[in-house]
Amino acid sequence: MKRRYPPIKLSLLLLALSLIWRMLGAPVVPGEWKSLDVPFWQARILLPSRLERVMTLWCGQMGSKSETTDQHPSEEQVALLGAESSRPVTLQVWNAQAERLESMELEAYVYGVVAAEMPAAYHTEALKAQAVAARTRALYQQVGTGCSLAEGADVCTQSGHCQGYATAQSLADKWGNEYEIYQRRLVEAVSATAGQVLTYDGEPILVMYHAISGGRTEDVQAVFSQSLPYLVSVDSAGEEGIRGYREDTVFSLEEAAKRLNDLFPELNTTPDDLQKTLVIATHTATGRVETLLLNGREISGTDFRKALNLRSTLFTFTMDADSITFHQTGYGHGVGMSQAGANRMAADGEGYAAILSHYYPGTALERQ
Ligand SMILES: [Zn+2]
Repeated sequence: MKRRYPPIKLSLLLLALSLIWRMLGAPVVPGEWKSLDVPFWQARILLPSRLERVMTLWCGQMGSKSETTDQHPSEEQVALLGAESSRPVTLQVWNAQAERLESMELEAYVYGVVAAEMPAAYHTEALKAQAVAARTRALYQQVGTGCSLAEGADVCTQSGHCQGYATAQSLADKWGNEYEIYQRRLVEAVSATAGQVLTYDGEPILVMYHAISGGRTEDVQAVFSQSLPYLVSVDSAGEEGIRGYREDTVFSLEEAAKRLNDLFPELNTTPDDLQKTLVIATHTATGRVETLLLNGREISGTDFRKALNLRSTLFTFTMDADSITFHQTGYGHGVGMSQAGANRMAADGEGYAAILSHYYPGTALERQ
């Protein structure tokens, strides 16, 4: 039998598949693979919003525009999050970027923290766990000593100090065309958990979290020199698919020495010292670098990470004549909930309560 070329059906099928591939937000060129926030399979959450947009393009005002926009929470709805709560809580938030103190409704603040601290494409149950974590951290600080950056502040908007907080404007830039679907997901996650906090002995706990643990979280004692029964090391398997799970950072020996001296002038180190004397001395129980020796002087892994702005203390290094390469696994201090691990657990069918009790063992989920 004579075949027709080109095979029409096959071509149409390939065309349809590549359209779906694009609509999923799937990467085509290597650069796009690198910039994926979430494992590629998870990008499917974008499909409904993209289909909607394509339909609008092809079929005009499909069932009137107001109907579709009504499904999306407006800025007012974000601001009204938690307004029905029987005990509305107002926080004093130090806006570190604008350098002013702002009063903010707790749930609206939680929305901004989740948006800043976790990729909005993460699984819904992971977003809910993050919402509870963000709320708990804020209330812990409110009943405790607050934020030390400003007089009268409960929390600040600085990620490295209290928690990051994203404004509507920064989210418009960050989310672009996906703004509405991401906003809807986050509003759902925040309102589904409204008022819920993690407690230990009836009090809100000191919540810590980080992006990627690298397989096992760290005991808080190893990083912050205080021991807490609910911030202990737990298993966090299955994070490998996440972007940034393993990354190398290269410095010239000169640059590495300069950075170390900037933070620790007493080291007075040289590229030659690094080359000849730098060794990892001890590891913590989870395999992270606990101490290093440089010229016979001890440096903690945490300080070393800070000086060189490394992604984590879970690293090894290699050197050649004039450069040093750090092979890092994971991202962040490693204490408390791993966001990548939470996303993995959610993808495996676990709910946010199970995720939280895994990463903060011995705690209870309560309504405040
Ligand atoms: Zn702060």
